[in-house]
Amino acid sequence: METTTFHEKGNISIHTENIFPIIKKFLYSDHEIFLRELVSNAVDATQKIKRLASMGEYGGELGDLTIKVSINPEAKTLTISDKGLGMTADEIKKYINQIAFSGALEFVEKYKDQGVERGAIIGQFGLGFYSAFMVASQVEIITKSYQDAPAARWICDGSTEFEITAADKADRGTDIILHITEDSQEFLEPARIRTILEKYGKFLPIPVSFEDKVINETEPIWTKNPNELVDEDYLKFYETLYPFSEKPLFWIHLNVDYPFNLTGILYFPKIKNELQLSREKIQLYSRQVFITDEVKDVVPDFLMLLHGVIDSPDIPLNVSRSFLQADSNVKKINGYITRKVADKLSELFNNDRHGYEEKFGDIGVFVKYGMISEDKFYDKAKDFVLLESTGDTFYTLEEYKEKTEETQKDKDDNLVWLYTTDTGKQDSYIQTAMARGYNVLKLDGVIDPHFIGKLEQKLEKTTFKRVDADSLDKLIDKGVTIESILTEEEKETLKATFEGVAGAGYSVEIQPLSTDELPVVITQNEFMRRMNDMSKAGGQPSFFGSMPVTYNLLINANHPAISRVKDSNDQALAKQLVDLALLSQGLLSGPALTEFIKRTVNGL
Ligand code: ADP
Ligand code: MG
Repeated sequence: METTTFHEKGNISIHTENIFPIIKKFLYSDHEIFLRELVSNAVDATQKIKRLASMGEYGGELGDLTIKVSINPEAKTLTISDKGLGMTADEIKKYINQIAFSGALEFVEKYKDQGVERGAIIGQFGLGFYSAFMVASQVEIITKSYQDAPAARWICDGSTEFEITAADKADRGTDIILHITEDSQEFLEPARIRTILEKYGKFLPIPVSFEDKVINETEPIWTKNPNELVDEDYLKFYETLYPFSEKPLFWIHLNVDYPFNLTGILYFPKIKNELQLSREKIQLYSRQVFITDEVKDVVPDFLMLLHGVIDSPDIPLNVSRSFLQADSNVKKINGYITRKVADKLSELFNNDRHGYEEKFGDIGVFVKYGMISEDKFYDKAKDFVLLESTGDTFYTLEEYKEKTEETQKDKDDNLVWLYTTDTGKQDSYIQTAMARGYNVLKLDGVIDPHFIGKLEQKLEKTTFKRVDADSLDKLIDKGVTIESILTEEEKETLKATFEGVAGAGYSVEIQPLSTDELPVVITQNEFMRRMNDMSKAGGQPSFFGSMPVTYNLLINANHPAISRVKDSNDQALAKQLVDLALLSQGLLSGPALTEFIKRTVNGL
């Protein structure tokens, strides 16, 4: 056997003094990422040899391709060994010594003043390998190429100097040996290494073993053809991603390779509390390497409520936020996912209206949030978003329009959609409205004030009013004037009487209302109340901020009970009528409520 010896010392060609301090301090916030980088290099090298073999360019045995990660506590080293294509000494010089920096340097120069986020360069610009120096005082490469060339050993201590010598390695592949620094000893602890490997490498396409156990599933289901998969597979995968979580409602398998490459599975969870951010987040992968679960900016905001996996080599992974938002691939990906999600919902709606209605309680928030935040989604979702009426019937926007067109138009041809935010508390208002033949919607979610605002903006001549926003005649003003049976003077006296019993915070108005309305009605201005609800929901900050809620006390001038108050200036009756009105709004509590009960019981 021919033995070759060579020994060369040299300088890593870069144009600045020393890039390592930059790598150590500036580039990475998360030191653990070095392992992701080195293991992905091992994966790349292994996939390359497989490809060469399949193309007939490598005729040797592939053998067991498992990548091995191991710790030597005595020597204080961490080693990543692969059976990939290896490197010749010349290739080391080319790929490790030079190329790695050229792109990165430019980038550092360009962005150093702009406060580019840490980690912005590594991976993106081939600095991956050098991330080893964040945790190692010395890095060795011992490698033997699949080509007929002697094995080589490269060693570098984190300065710009390196050394290459011949090595004693018979098998194809590469060992990367890190001599772990004093302050990075954590990376010699098996538990720590296992955790990092499981975090980043759970779905790597080449088996990776640590302490004789393979840590990954090499063919996760998102890489498979949907035709080969059954519901069970999707549910099982969900369970692997989010152990102990409730079953998802349904899912979408994403698969596109033009104009960008993207695969993944998005699950629709049951959304219980719309404001609670779920701890199960969408995970972002690049070629099966876990990158992050902070997918904000990559995925449209409203889709953050979904769970699952997105895998795309076309997403710039480490670049800063603003860069990401401007990236055209990211924009296209956003658009694609949004469309896919809308298509899925539309399909469910069209194929199984009943099942869709049953699920709507869980996905409604999501659909509404999407409509509020993305016009493109609105355009699709307007056909499958549902409004639920107090009769437990679901309507699409179009169906509801047809349903109410005859009855709920006001004198100016505006369609008025009445709603309740609390069927319990607003029951008396709902009943009065329904007795008039009106339909009342249930819009009781935190997101609904925003949703209503969006619909008003999009639908022509349509306004929403909560059932207690005004007297029934005014809610949907048909232009019919009701004559008052009281004189102006009588009204003044009555007003004073009621102001006396109502207390501060209520503004009293005497109005001639229909006799099917209660003697005293408490109303809340729609606009003011909605502003308040919106700022409570924590959405767009309300221009008005949070204001004290004001209530109007409408005194039905034409009601017989009011005539009695007027005729005998009956303060007690006035008080009773006001309390009844407060009670129907759930506004009577504490001592006032106790007093009311006592008074009522005594009068029996
Ligand atoms: P990138 O992976 O983005 O190319 P890296 O800095 O991680 O950048 O690696 C630089 C180059 O070094 C790789 O492109 C590859 O040619 C070579 N290399 C690194 N690790 C290995 C390995 N384990 N086996 C073979 N070649 C490797
Ligand atoms: Mg790499």
